[in-house]
Amino acid sequence: MIPSVLPTYNRAPLAFVKGEGSWLIEADGTRYLDLGAGIAVNALGHANPELVEALTAQAGALWHVSNLYQIPAQQALADALVAASFADTVFFTNSGTEACELAVKMARKHFHDAGQPERVEILTFEGAFHGRSSAGIAAAGSEKMTKGFGPLLPGFRQLPFGDHDALRAAVTDKTAAILVEPIQGEGGIRALPDVCLKGMRDLCDEHGLLLIFDEVQCGMGRTGRLFAHEWAGIAPDIMMVAKGIGGGFPLGAVLATEAAASGMIAGTHGSTYGGNPLACAVGGKVMEIVSDPDFLAKVNRKAGLLRQKLEALVAEHDDIFDGVRGSGLMLGLHCVVENSRVVSAGYAEHVLTVPAADNVLRLLPALNITDEEIAEAVARLDRAASRLKADRAA
Ligand SMILES: *Cc1c(COP(=O)(O)O)cnc(C)c1O
Repeated sequence: MIPSVLPTYNRAPLAFVKGEGSWLIEADGTRYLDLGAGIAVNALGHANPELVEALTAQAGALWHVSNLYQIPAQQALADALVAASFADTVFFTNSGTEACELAVKMARKHFHDAGQPERVEILTFEGAFHGRSSAGIAAAGSEKMTKGFGPLLPGFRQLPFGDHDALRAAVTDKTAAILVEPIQGEGGIRALPDVCLKGMRDLCDEHGLLLIFDEVQCGMGRTGRLFAHEWAGIAPDIMMVAKGIGGGFPLGAVLATEAAASGMIAGTHGSTYGGNPLACAVGGKVMEIVSDPDFLAKVNRKAGLLRQKLEALVAEHDDIFDGVRGSGLMLGLHCVVENSRVVSAGYAEHVLTVPAADNVLRLLPALNITDEEIAEAVARLDRAASRLKADRAA
């Protein structure tokens, strides 16, 4: 008999009833140190008092009004995002994959209205993840995500990851945009070097293409800058954001330049919930905290500390791990043994990590994790690695 919850997830046998900062707690009081943070969602930890305050204050006043009306909290969050980024305008969604839908629609509408309706093709990359909607799976294109779900939305072409010559050769007079994660998350914490991102920007400028960054996982302070692309000194035309922006409240956004968004006039797109008062009250507080340069400086310092400890861990357990990758607090340990076994050994040591493709163990802790928690986390990973070795010897 089919379970009452559609069985599309492989769930661990863990159930948490409470969260506190970087800790998740089971009903019997067992505490787990959380290095997954809801896959980069709980950017400021669980039950963050400032976010609880923002949420409950708004909850007592007004939960939802339609986008038929003005929504001051939405306006304020959009203003803050525009002030802190390349963007001139913002649309709010409830998730990353909805942001992907709009990014695709926006790019196509841009060229349609510019009298180039043949420009519909969007170039994407192997190993990419843009969510589970029809546009998202067509953009990623992998067999794992698309098999059985055809006919797929046409107009996407996947290219080898990090191969600039292949990218250059793929541009035709039908190309509208390049869609890319500056750091692939699900794909295994694979970062594009700054020179690649700069090369993509140049290629787009040369051919009049739109550059779309998917910063759903790597954005909102995760890498120690508000947005990951800032490290490369270039900017996209359109950017998808979600996960960390709501700190655990479902919220996403598409940020765009005025030129890229020029086709999106009244009536061309919408969302019932997108940018509602509850979501934007929380998102506004997240943005206020995360965009503060002092906060980002702390993220960078903690990232350095975690990375240094992880390098030592890899050196100590070279039969379990063979390298650290990623940026800021978006880190991956490439595993020599099967990554899911390391995740399970972590459960036994009460430390939570997230598997990714390419046999990587993902570490995406809350951005406000403490130095003591970083030390404790790596101590637990060390014990998890020793546990795997003991299992192997047995
Ligand atoms: C998680 C993720 C998405 C999809 O977000 P949802 O909120 O699950 O729809 C899209 N792109 C990237 C890079 C992601 O990490």
